[in-house]
Amino acid sequence: MSLPELIAEYGGVVYRPRSLRLETHGISEFGLLSKPAQFFMREAMDKYETGYVSYSELYETRWCEKPRILAHYERLDAEQKNEVLGFVALTLHELTHHIDFLTTPFGVNFHAKTCREYINFQAFSQFLLADHKLVPAGFLAYFEDYLIQGGMALPETASRSWEHLRGQVLTFEAWGDGGMVRPRKKRIQPGWGENRNPVQLLGNALHKVTVNGFFLTVGIPHHLDWYLRPLTLFETRAIANSVLWILYLLDQKGSAVEDVRSFLRAFYPKETCPPDYWLIFDLLANLWGYAGFDELLAGGSCNALRQVLMLASGASWYALHAPPPMGPDSGLTSNPVVRLLCFLQSLNAAAKQKLKFESLVAFADQIDGSDLGRQYDCPRVSEILSFCISFLSHHTSMNKTAVRDTELQRHFARIFKIQFDQMKKRITDGYASILSMPEHGNPYFALETDKEADQLLFEYKPSARVEGWFAFRQNLLYKNMDCAKVILGLNEYCCS
Ligand SMILES: [Zn+2]
Repeated sequence: MSLPELIAEYGGVVYRPRSLRLETHGISEFGLLSKPAQFFMREAMDKYETGYVSYSELYETRWCEKPRILAHYERLDAEQKNEVLGFVALTLHELTHHIDFLTTPFGVNFHAKTCREYINFQAFSQFLLADHKLVPAGFLAYFEDYLIQGGMALPETASRSWEHLRGQVLTFEAWGDGGMVRPRKKRIQPGWGENRNPVQLLGNALHKVTVNGFFLTVGIPHHLDWYLRPLTLFETRAIANSVLWILYLLDQKGSAVEDVRSFLRAFYPKETCPPDYWLIFDLLANLWGYAGFDELLAGGSCNALRQVLMLASGASWYALHAPPPMGPDSGLTSNPVVRLLCFLQSLNAAAKQKLKFESLVAFADQIDGSDLGRQYDCPRVSEILSFCISFLSHHTSMNKTAVRDTELQRHFARIFKIQFDQMKKRITDGYASILSMPEHGNPYFALETDKEADQLLFEYKPSARVEGWFAFRQNLLYKNMDCAKVILGLNEYCCS
């Protein structure tokens, strides 16, 4: 069985942003690799004993700098190459998620909402537990549909409590929190209010849509029932980083693009990826004159591929600076998809005028001060980062007083502390951050202190109770569940 098949069987290498947990199912050890792939990795890491592989062992050697190792790599067949590329790139993919959730303003919004959602669950669960008829069989993200279908109405106090929780639940749902759960068609309305003009972008016309009545985004061409979800921005950056790292290991030699194509096809087959997964890469490949990212992978140069990856990562980095709501009318400001569109439209305009920028950071700064930036309500990055700092202070105190469960409280406190330290560290440099866009794609080498390594590598293990709540929450919102299990879970986690 090949590594991708084995990974599918084991349930994948998965990052759970809420619990900060990476699940590798033993893939980080050698066990799953075929013998030739194991031999190669042992030589590449100069490691001959079995067991735990450290980050430095995994990443320290640049293969192309050791002709013996590169020659060994070339002797592997296509499937074995996929195995070793997967072995080095999959953890890097998840590490990128972990760092992005902990160092970006959108990550601040995500974790703060997760905390507020829990606080509101503490209150709302009381009403469900008091009247079991109201308990939905899972799919709480669609609770209102459930009430309508059952001809039920919430009593007034319960209804007020649901109102508080509803905001977080529907926002997460619109962001793509349900993973592969297909968005419900009737929740996607055409246009942004009255405005139905498509967004013209890099030779494409993208249709504006509004999800759950408030979240503005664009539909995916040829997939009318899908739209671009903010959580896809994290995927874009993780793919960009891991492929940049592969190119760095192989030094952009002749067959590197071919190897990348084979690696992506093995681990991220189009048929199993959600339809918005490749959108940003496709759009940027268009800018280079390719019909899409597949065409670039089929015939493009290493250089073109690198450029597209860097831009995809930079565009998503800009987008993930969408802060938590800064005021009552900050819907555009805190929408990462709107920021992404602003970045891509600015790029389109700069390409047409053949403008050159010193760096992606300089380009991002220029957008903030531009007419388009103002039109899309993008504040200066320094304003965003300072806002996040006070927002985190506020949530740190709120967590202390309102989260009753001590283990969850400790968990949220840890996250807010890491984010607070990161926002403080970043405030003088704005968009510039070596952690965010390392040229070789590997943020591991940008960690500066032991404290930062402790905060941003996977050293922390949340308690079983914390993981239990997040697993239950995910099922409750996006899966069909037995009502008895819902009651049990709410009793267990929300009534301490
Ligand atoms: Zn991912």
